[in-house]
Amino acid sequence: MFTKLIELNQIIEGGKTRSIVERLNQGLPDTYKHGIAICFDLNSGQYVGLRLVEGCQDVVYMKASGNGFATTALQPLSEKSMSTVNKLKRSADALHLVSFFTIKKQVENITEHFDETTVHEDIKKKLQDIPQSKDERIYLFVASVDGDKILPLYKEMEVQEQMVKNALHEQYGKAEKFLSIENDRTCYLCGKAGQKVYGNFSMLKCYNLDKRGMITGGFSYRQPLKNFPVCEECIAAVSSGYDFAKKYLTFSMCGERYILLPNLQTKDEELSDVILEKLQDREPATLSSKLEKITAAENEILEELAEVGGGKDVLTLTMVFFEESNASWKITAEIPEVLPSRINLIYKAKHAVESNRYLKMGDKNFHYTFRSLQRFTGDGGKLSRRKFMSYIDAIFSDRDLDERVLLMQNHIVNSKERA
Ligand SMILES: [Zn+2]
Repeated sequence: MFTKLIELNQIIEGGKTRSIVERLNQGLPDTYKHGIAICFDLNSGQYVGLRLVEGCQDVVYMKASGNGFATTALQPLSEKSMSTVNKLKRSADALHLVSFFTIKKQVENITEHFDETTVHEDIKKKLQDIPQSKDERIYLFVASVDGDKILPLYKEMEVQEQMVKNALHEQYGKAEKFLSIENDRTCYLCGKAGQKVYGNFSMLKCYNLDKRGMITGGFSYRQPLKNFPVCEECIAAVSSGYDFAKKYLTFSMCGERYILLPNLQTKDEELSDVILEKLQDREPATLSSKLEKITAAENEILEELAEVGGGKDVLTLTMVFFEESNASWKITAEIPEVLPSRINLIYKAKHAVESNRYLKMGDKNFHYTFRSLQRFTGDGGKLSRRKFMSYIDAIFSDRDLDERVLLMQNHIVNSKERA
């Protein structure tokens, strides 16, 4: 999984390597259409009210863990607007403590004049004029103003560096209370020696290290560096790949959510561009189902990507099924390196079944998808889900599915329905 995310990052970057800030920057989804700048005069530091900006293209933002605040003095507006303002104040205070050189005086002024109650009153008033819905969200950020110019703190280099430092040291460089940073070690992911490594790279909240068997001797918080040492470069690359995958490559197959990770078989920048374009231009994945597709998902990414190579297996697709609840992210199954030719074959089989006139009921269109197969596996409980996943695994990995097992299963389901 981790190495696949690094490979995905290579596709995203094409020929040019991005900086660590660019990789770690999660940005905001396009639905954040309105930004409210909390403005302070650049010279005097006085609070001068709010200004509106459209869109969120250039924001620099990393979500804080738990109830914390983002380091770049930018927050998506939450239901409790006072708490959002409070987080921004805390963020500015924190920047005040660490900033030096260029923005020291500026941030000091801001923290001095940042009165949460006044700012919050203004925001409450402002919110009455801004339409808000799930497609039109609002974010707040702290900025200085110089005449007409808005200078957001998140654009300052020192602030961006602080974001990186915080991510690496506070989030990934500590495990529980233990510091877990070491110099001159070999990175588990890229294999480079002599690196500064971090032991608690827990972005995915799982220590499934891309291999079966996990960690010999068990996992221990006290030994994260022994368990999973990762270098800065790799942390940034995995984070960037993961953010992209969450945004563009998360799909649902009959209720089972999965991330699809393309992996190029050849070093081909042109192909990277084609794939990237295909992935980014897609409508966001939805959970609604249209039955003409094999996965019963509206956007049939599998078919689209399988066609990229024009019949040749120039890339493979890894499907990572997962469960997500609050803070934990768990891989439930991984189907590695499915070939496009295999996907084409599955489509052919699907069409063959659908055109079989014995299976058709009257003149109605008949669609055969994995949902049809899912019905064979029972009531949707834990056991039946596991069974369904094993069928999917067998089909994509080109292994045999014993039809007798399926028929038996169908018999059990039917008799239960009759009972
Ligand atoms: Zn590395």
